[in-house]
Amino acid sequence: MPNGELDYVDIRKKVMLILESTPTGMSTSEIAKKLNVSRTTMSKYLEMIRLTGNVEKRKLGPVTLWFISPKINKIKEYIRNTQGPVIDSILKGDETKIRPTLGDAFPLTLFRTFKIALAMIDSVDNMFYEMGEVIAKEELSKHVDTSDLATMMNSAAPIFEKLRIGLVKVHPINDEHILVDLRECTTCYGMPNIGSAICYFEAGIIGGLVDATIGKSNVKEIKCWGLGDNYCQFDVRLI
Ligand SMILES: [Zn+2]
Repeated sequence: MPNGELDYVDIRKKVMLILESTPTGMSTSEIAKKLNVSRTTMSKYLEMIRLTGNVEKRKLGPVTLWFISPKINKIKEYIRNTQGPVIDSILKGDETKIRPTLGDAFPLTLFRTFKIALAMIDSVDNMFYEMGEVIAKEELSKHVDTSDLATMMNSAAPIFEKLRIGLVKVHPINDEHILVDLRECTTCYGMPNIGSAICYFEAGIIGGLVDATIGKSNVKEIKCWGLGDNYCQFDVRLI
């Protein structure tokens, strides 16, 4: 991700936090003031976030009010009530079945076809990040050791393996900075060099885990099959 997008990720997180605590909505100027950016810049960022489906705007006379999209709460509820117990039983080693006859295994090649088709839509990268984040915050964060950043991520490695997301190896740099290698990544393993890192879902899972357990994070994928590497590496920092 270029630096501009990192700033965007940070701003998006802050906007979501502000709006989560404001059910009656907030104007562009109020949000701009809270984040200490100009109204014009804020308006541009809010429109970008709106494309991800996370926020909605309503006109109230001359004022534009921003809200968390009701869809986000529905997705969280769905994950909590339906996906959560299934993820739990996979982590416990049970052979779960959502489908009675076919079972739950699904060819990776078809899953990737969906992802490639979805990648044609603008802002879908952010949506993948958000979904990874929601799953991590709502479900996976209950299963990790929260003592510190590196310990937490190490304790998440078996979860990544059981859910077949990939094989994790953690390199601690300091208390607030780690590198996370991901091998055999669901999204990119074996893909050609397309000149960009593509594992936003996986980045979102890491970001969501850190946010829910240690503190606010900034996650950037710095190695990826999509960049010509033969594994993914995420730079994870507390901010
Ligand atoms: Zn990757």
